[in-house]
Amino acid sequence: MERIKVKQLLQQQSGSEVNAKGWVRTKRGNKNVTFIALNDGSTINSIQIVCETAKFDEELLKKITTGACISVVGNLVDSVGGGQSVEIQAKDIEILGVADPDTYPLQKKGHSMEFLRDIAHLRPRTNTFGAIFRIRHAMAFAIHKFFNDKGFVYLHTPLITESDCEGAGAMFQVTTLDLNNIPKKEDGSVNYDEDFFGHSTALTVSGQLEGELGAMALGEIYTFGPTFRAENSNTPRHLAEFWMIEPEMAFYEIKDNMDLAEEFIKYLIKYALDNCGDDLKFLNDMFDKELITRLENVVNTEFVRLAYTEGVDILLKSGEKFEFPVYWGVDLQSEHERYLVEKHFGKPVILTDYPKEIKAFYMKQNDDGKTVRAMDVLFPKIGEIIGGSEREASYDKLMTRIKELNMATDNLWWYLDTRRFGSAPHSGFGLGFERLLLFVTGMTNIRDVIPFPRTPKSADF
Ligand code: ATP
Ligand code: MG
Repeated sequence: MERIKVKQLLQQQSGSEVNAKGWVRTKRGNKNVTFIALNDGSTINSIQIVCETAKFDEELLKKITTGACISVVGNLVDSVGGGQSVEIQAKDIEILGVADPDTYPLQKKGHSMEFLRDIAHLRPRTNTFGAIFRIRHAMAFAIHKFFNDKGFVYLHTPLITESDCEGAGAMFQVTTLDLNNIPKKEDGSVNYDEDFFGHSTALTVSGQLEGELGAMALGEIYTFGPTFRAENSNTPRHLAEFWMIEPEMAFYEIKDNMDLAEEFIKYLIKYALDNCGDDLKFLNDMFDKELITRLENVVNTEFVRLAYTEGVDILLKSGEKFEFPVYWGVDLQSEHERYLVEKHFGKPVILTDYPKEIKAFYMKQNDDGKTVRAMDVLFPKIGEIIGGSEREASYDKLMTRIKELNMATDNLWWYLDTRRFGSAPHSGFGLGFERLLLFVTGMTNIRDVIPFPRTPKSADF
């Protein structure tokens, strides 16, 4: 008999014999009847299995404990109890895998998020993480749909790279050299000639530079892949391995870039509201009573667009006591970003025209000689969710900046070629996928929106 997923069963008419497979969430009952809540991950909702105790072997029923995996054949009937439309009147139950109640860690509901982080291999079996990972999937799908519908090309950029020119964060080195016996040159430095690639290489911190190559040929591209930053910042908003979406568009100026970022993020949130209703309602009820309202507000509001200089003015005049000082030229901290978004404006803010000193070399320089055409999208609860800019299209200006920063160009010649051959105005941005998921799920720690978080001193699972 063909197994039917719980999500589908719960939408089906009663009357037929069906087979469901899944994991036992709870079992309760009395000597006459046993109720099992069965969940298979297809939906936040479990289906109720009703067993007349007398019809089943006592030993078998004993083995049906929380966490066990079972296959049930029975009649789908209208449910008498409230809360669900149908339930299964069990005829036959097969135990696929037991879960010893003495050792299975997820016995009760209401475990702390910290406890669940320590059992990342089992936490997808909780309602909370089931909901989060289904939403994560839906958002990944919506990202591809959004760009595909607009004719963007999904470009796969490399994870292993020789260039460290982004300056976005410390990198993880990739090597096949024997760390206990590192080959050295005469001057004592590492002899990378003997390494796999013949050079020092690292995991990428961003696909942007390669993305720009794509935009200069295909017009509009996006990347969506993992990025790695060995930053020792143990914050609730940073991971060492996180996923990033980086669109890059030829012929877009900064305003077009902002329009796209705003449209994109609203599309994703609306997609979640339209397609993840059950999971969002669960998270709203259990964790954050304002979640759905907050999501709806963002979809229906126009983002504020503000120059960095004006933002700093607002902060200076705010009278607010910040932990980190505010002055023109400072790289804004999350507390500053959140003040603007949450207290001052009460909606998302796109901050533009940052001082060039705190932004990357490739951003388009403004005529004032001080600022660049950067744009960061700042969100309630999160702070920075998107970082982007119009790119400097002029070879000469770019080279001047590179020299000012004393950057080595030997690893960058291929990038500079885009400005030598058919350069064009272009723009792009990076959306941190997990930061988006923090906002959409209402979670407060980034470790809880990725199945297997990598953070300093932690890569167990
Ligand atoms: P932050 O100031 O928060 O460290 P950033 O300026 O280093 O961010 P960018 O280099 O602009 O970030 O990266 C683009 C986006 O990637 C950010 O807007 C953010 O959403 C996300 N991001 C950056 N670093 C991390 C990280 N360590 N973990 C998760 N997401 C990140
Ligand atoms: Mg950073």
